[in-house]
Amino acid sequence: MIIVTRKGVTQDQLDHIRERVEALGLRTHVSSGEHRTIIGCLGDEGILQNIPLLSLPGVETVHEVLKPYKLASKDFAADPTRVQLGAVEIGGADVVVIAGPCSVEGRDMLGATARRVKQAGARALRGGAFKPRTSPYSFRGMGEDGLKLLAEVRAETGLPVVTEVMDTREVDLVAAYADVLQIGARNMQNYALLMEVGRLRRPVLLKRGMAATVKDLLLAAEYVMSQGNTNVILCERGIRTFETATRNTFDLAAIPVLKRETHLPVVADPSHAGGRRDLVAPLAFAAVAAGADGLMIEVHPDPETATSDGDQSLDFAEFDSLMEQLGLFAHAAGRGLAGAEVAAG
Ligand code: PEP
Ligand code: MN
Repeated sequence: MIIVTRKGVTQDQLDHIRERVEALGLRTHVSSGEHRTIIGCLGDEGILQNIPLLSLPGVETVHEVLKPYKLASKDFAADPTRVQLGAVEIGGADVVVIAGPCSVEGRDMLGATARRVKQAGARALRGGAFKPRTSPYSFRGMGEDGLKLLAEVRAETGLPVVTEVMDTREVDLVAAYADVLQIGARNMQNYALLMEVGRLRRPVLLKRGMAATVKDLLLAAEYVMSQGNTNVILCERGIRTFETATRNTFDLAAIPVLKRETHLPVVADPSHAGGRRDLVAPLAFAAVAAGADGLMIEVHPDPETATSDGDQSLDFAEFDSLMEQLGLFAHAAGRGLAGAEVAAG
């Protein structure tokens, strides 16, 4: 931690700052310039988070030297983390596609979607049974019946299932059915929920909050990991900005930034980012070019009748065509497309 003092800081103020820091067992190193004095703090800087340094008289700014996220940071892992998702892993050489409806609506639509996306090369099935809806009057999911359908369709197709958990009270229930627990954008900073899924060893797909910085996302991952669950997949799904032409603003740069900062796999969700089906393919290709390890895409047999997110859901033909082109983008980015052999065979 580096403490930069105000112009005109007094010796008494400097001594006080140093005393406070040293009282916590750290050493200080003072460097006096013409206008500013800088105090370097040596030792476990995490401890310093316990004092409100900016409130000490004479302090102007404080800079962290080490990353506040430790377990999620690349500095703390020799190799990229690969998260096992059924027979494939996310974070390895191949780009992995997770596809399925926004919401589980029934047996037939879920089964038909799963069979079709599998045929096109998807390696996991998504589908919400507990749905976070902005309005309490919108369809909020089938609940446990939806989870049962996901498990049935997994048994039939072999596709592992990714589904959202919204409430600490439902973590064990959802984990009884899901292969991957999705934490949605609205819950990215629900720390009780993060700790609860951290208690399990089931992979977690953590979506970036609408108003969350990359650092916030990594600290949310840190919550999960601090409980012992290191199987975390990060998901860029767009953030809120002043732009209204798209549902969210897809933060493409967050993908290479995350890949630089963390060893965790990063996937992108072009469906929620763009909010319109014609944007899904270009955003998906861009995400792969930017280094995403996977994609999560909403697909519905008849988007017009979808109970949620129909505007951004691809129909089967659109998904087929996206998958055909995706292989080329993955190849250009030096990656393979997991499941391409399935689609070809
Ligand atoms: C979803 O994946 O259907 C969803 C609700 O996503 P988000 O949390 O990113 O809005
Ligand atoms: Mn959705």
